[in-house]
This record gives sequence, structure tokens and C-alpha cells, in this order.
Amino acid sequence: MGTQSRFTLQDFYGGSIQGRLAVAQGLYPDLTLALAANEPFTRMLAQAVMLEKELARTMAGLELGALCTVCGTKAGGGCCSSFMAGENDVAQLLLNLLAGVAVAALREDDECCFLGQRGCLLLFKPMFCLNYNCQQIRQGAGPDRMRCLDQATGELLQQQYALEQLLLEVLRRRGTLTG
Ligand code: SF4
Ligand code: SF4
Repeated sequence: MGTQSRFTLQDFYGGSIQGRLAVAQGLYPDLTLALAANEPFTRMLAQAVMLEKELARTMAGLELGALCTVCGTKAGGGCCSSFMAGENDVAQLLLNLLAGVAVAALREDDECCFLGQRGCLLLFKPMFCLNYNCQQIRQGAGPDRMRCLDQATGELLQQQYALEQLLLEVLRRRGTLTG
């Protein structure tokens, strides 16, 4: 592995979103082969996908997708700005790629580059994207349904965090990540 590229935490969490996306896309082909035989990782990734599906079901029950889409078409747009795109780091983009998402920049305007015509392209989103629910959503859902939403969000975020730590450990062992 002596000839492979080496990256720092600054490459993973700093710089532009375009730079981080390029790092993730560059690492993905080698990594997908290496991780296919890593049982703890594949098991945890499968659990994360299940938790994401559960959260998506909860969100659909609250019609969040429809609400945010209406919001996004109004002047000033919704919450998915180009600023928010910067919350995505290399490890989390890699998790999306490893889960089969064709991660790419879909646009170059004031919106988040991962915002497509049918909403967010990503399966695993940044913490701020998952945690934020505006007043309209909170009031519309009511306390009980918000509790369910917060629980489903928390479970997915915990799993994403654990997966990211495992991925960083693998990358350090391979000499791909320093620091
Ligand atoms: S979270 Fe609220 S403010 Fe943000 S896009 Fe959705 S509906 Fe609009
Ligand atoms: S939810 Fe997705 S599209 Fe919206 S800001 Fe977050 S990453 Fe971008």
C-alpha cells in the first residue's frame, strides 16, 4: 500500500465540499473491495441502512418531504443551502458511496449540491440536516410524533457515528489517513 494516496483529517473535514467529494470518490473503488470482507463493517452498514429506512418511514408519515419541497420552491428557498452542503465530510460521503448511492454534485447554485429534484440524494446525511426541524414541522407533528421522529433520528445518527469511527480506523490501518 506504499504508493497509495495519503490524507489528513483536514482533507476529510476541511476545504471545499468539491474537494471532499473528490477525495471520497477517489478512495471509494479500492475501499469497497477491502471492506467487502470486513464483517463488522458490512453488518453495521446494513443496520444503518435499516435505520435510515425506518427514519424515512417516520418522516413520510409526517409528510416532511412534501412540506420541505413546497418550502424549497418559495422565494428564499428551504433549508438545503450551499452553506449546508459544507456539513458533509469525506467519511460520511464514503458511507453513502459504500451503501450504493451514486454521490455526485447535482448542481452549482445557491442550493446544496446534493439536492436533487426528488430531494436529498444522500442516504446518510450530516447531523445538522437530520436534527433540524422547523417550527412548522414541530407544531404540525405534535409532541408524541416528534418524540418518535427524534428517537429514529437519534438511532440513525448514533449508528452513522459508530460506522464513521470504524471507517476512520480502517483507513488509518491501511495508511490512507494520517492523524
Ligand atoms: S425544515 Fe421547515 S423551513 Fe426547512 S425546508 Fe423543511 S419545511 Fe421548510
Ligand atoms: S438534507 Fe441533503 S440536500 Fe439538504 S442540505 Fe443536507 S445534504 Fe444537502
